[in-house]
Amino acid sequence: MRRVGRALTRHAAGRHVCCTPTTAPWEDIITRYHLLSESNYKADKSADLVGWLTGTLQLAPGRLSGYEVCFDRGHCYPTCVFYAGRGGFDSTKQARIRRTKLLHENPDAFYHLLSEDLAKLSRAAEKLGLEPCCRPNCFSDVPWEERMPQLFTEWPGIQFYDYTKSAERTDLFAGNSDWPANYHLTYSWSEKSKPRVVAKWMDRGVSVAIPMRENRQLPPALEGRPIVDGDQHDAIFLHPPGSVLVLKPKGLARTARTEFIP
Ligand code: SF4
Repeated sequence: MRRVGRALTRHAAGRHVCCTPTTAPWEDIITRYHLLSESNYKADKSADLVGWLTGTLQLAPGRLSGYEVCFDRGHCYPTCVFYAGRGGFDSTKQARIRRTKLLHENPDAFYHLLSEDLAKLSRAAEKLGLEPCCRPNCFSDVPWEERMPQLFTEWPGIQFYDYTKSAERTDLFAGNSDWPANYHLTYSWSEKSKPRVVAKWMDRGVSVAIPMRENRQLPPALEGRPIVDGDQHDAIFLHPPGSVLVLKPKGLARTARTEFIP
């Protein structure tokens, strides 16, 4: 929350308060989410660089909670970014597992709490002069368009976005007029990617993210496309359609020898 914190400070300065309040006027709005997390490093950059306030939903990947949430995972799982940073703390891991269990065991309660959070996110963004966006699959690949399609119709003012390793979801996003207009997907390259299929998606405007070590070559299927630094900020829906988002490997993936990272 460091960078957004600075935006908040600027916001307070702009209100010409005559004395320093003991409780900041936005605290109730922005720091008490039920399910969303306030921010992370890349999402903070989205606020500072491109004016988007991000709420992230952090579940527990794979089957860690007892419920599968990454249906197309492969070699990414042992080095998932879930384990990086605060993910190393047991309290963080347990909170993510609890959220994932709630989604599966009481989806109505989950949706109710998420709706309250999205209302808070919208209000906070408005106060800060930012646009609200939400990434519901930080460490998961839940097909929200099937699971909770009401998210997109009941929150038309929020831009949702995710990465996905699912060919099926990418295919629907690429060519389906029924796909929610405010839900953007970026396909995430993996050892299962089929170059000819990926090229067709890119021709239809789908961007592809790929983690790459320094001085490595892109897979031939991705050559000749616009390349952007995917670590610049997290508002990935702003990148030109059909781009390659090059990411630095994070956490355990930095040193792991794995087929899905060139
Ligand atoms: S990288 Fe994505 S698909 Fe793979 S385990 Fe992590 S969250 Fe799931």
